[in-house]
Amino acid sequence: MTERIPTRLIETLSPTPLRLTPSQAGGAIHTRSFSGRFRNLRLYGAGFLFLLFFGTAWLDWGGRQAVLWDLSAHRFYIFGATFWPQDFILLSALLIICAFGLFAITVVAGRIWCGYTCPQSVWTWVFMWAEKTLEGDRNQRIKLDAAPWNADKLLRRGAKHGLWLAVSLLTALTFVGYFTPIRPLATELFSLRLEGVAGFWIAFFALATYLNAGWMREKVCVHMCPYARFQSVMFDDNTLLVAYDAARGEGRGPRRKGSDPRAQGLGDCIDCTLCVQVCPTGIDIRDGLQIDCIGCAACVDACDTVMDKMGYARGLVGYRSQRQLEGGRTRLLRPRLVGYAGVLLVMIGAFVWALQIRPLVSLDVSKDRGLFRENAIGQVENIYTLKIINKTQQARRYRLALAEPGPFELHAPRELALAPGEILDLPVSVALTDAAPASSSQGLRFAVTALDDPGLRSEAGSTFTAPLQR
Ligand code: SF4
Ligand code: SF4
Repeated sequence: MTERIPTRLIETLSPTPLRLTPSQAGGAIHTRSFSGRFRNLRLYGAGFLFLLFFGTAWLDWGGRQAVLWDLSAHRFYIFGATFWPQDFILLSALLIICAFGLFAITVVAGRIWCGYTCPQSVWTWVFMWAEKTLEGDRNQRIKLDAAPWNADKLLRRGAKHGLWLAVSLLTALTFVGYFTPIRPLATELFSLRLEGVAGFWIAFFALATYLNAGWMREKVCVHMCPYARFQSVMFDDNTLLVAYDAARGEGRGPRRKGSDPRAQGLGDCIDCTLCVQVCPTGIDIRDGLQIDCIGCAACVDACDTVMDKMGYARGLVGYRSQRQLEGGRTRLLRPRLVGYAGVLLVMIGAFVWALQIRPLVSLDVSKDRGLFRENAIGQVENIYTLKIINKTQQARRYRLALAEPGPFELHAPRELALAPGEILDLPVSVALTDAAPASSSQGLRFAVTALDDPGLRSEAGSTFTAPLQR
């Protein structure tokens, strides 16, 4: 007993290879909704990232916003730690580590970052969900597009754009809230009192989100994203990419469920084009690997559903390597990957070490422009300005001294009290106790040491200038 394939699976899209994707041809892409394990994976991953992004901005830690890049105070707070402009080398190192991590993941699984966690993709999926909720699934949206303007179309379109704008505004508020304390920012925004620089950036990021995720979508991935352009150089024969198993799938064509496709000269692809209909970039994965493919695996889920219904094995479209497609086995451990992983481990180790030894008190010295002067008791004297930063979260007392006094005498308070995060600019003078200096320019070092923790110490050097003949 044979059974026809449900007609809704056999849409009348052209089965011939598409030379221009709708995106490339400038047409709108109406994706069909689908379910499956990769969609669930993306849903959980994106949900977690969304929570992280929107939730963290509202968290408090130690009486202040937990994560805040305070531009006006030149400080970056991340939970209990405070980073200063002098620590930005650490933040740069962190970015380099993330980039290397991304390279390593790309070697293993191609554009998996693009399909699952890239903000452009995540926000686009959210906007597509809003579109589907308010305008219906693929066929209803195609009909709505073609329909003349009437009250229903106006209402649906208006609601969709309203929801897109609301998500965009919240996104922008949250993003700017990582640079300006978010609570007062939100109060000003929702009471329509927001102006100035923060107002400009919220409007800018809201517009960028609305345009990128609502209107430009896959065009950003295909035409604008620089990462899409160069990541293919990281691929090798063992990189897992979403691919169609042409040897198994061809020749494609409709058939009755339960019939023997081989007897009809057919492969496992029933040519239902569902894989094309769910693709957010509008491509046909059966045409081979394409730069437009963001590796989201929507086509894998769609095709697996079809295979289940047909009683065929899953995986006609799936993650596989070039080597696998040619009949071999994917090698996970390979020199390039081991190299990336090794460098990554070394970098993470160095980063953790640098974090551990990061000085939590900082001392900078700048010498006064005047070369020297004579003080009231006839000693040669140089003037300096010390900049001391207490980078800890506690109020602390520090001892100030010359590291090796030698012939010098420091004229400054011996003890300093600094509040958490306080920056102290302190003018001091150093006098020469020798009547006849050995050189016209000698080095000297200042030191600050926490009274309650001698390990909390910083030194900085400068020079002392004196006339040789007096
Ligand atoms: S690859 Fe799968 S989803 Fe795509 S047309 Fe063939 S059977 Fe349908
Ligand atoms: S071809 Fe498949 S994996 Fe690639 S973008 Fe389209 S749906 Fe996603």
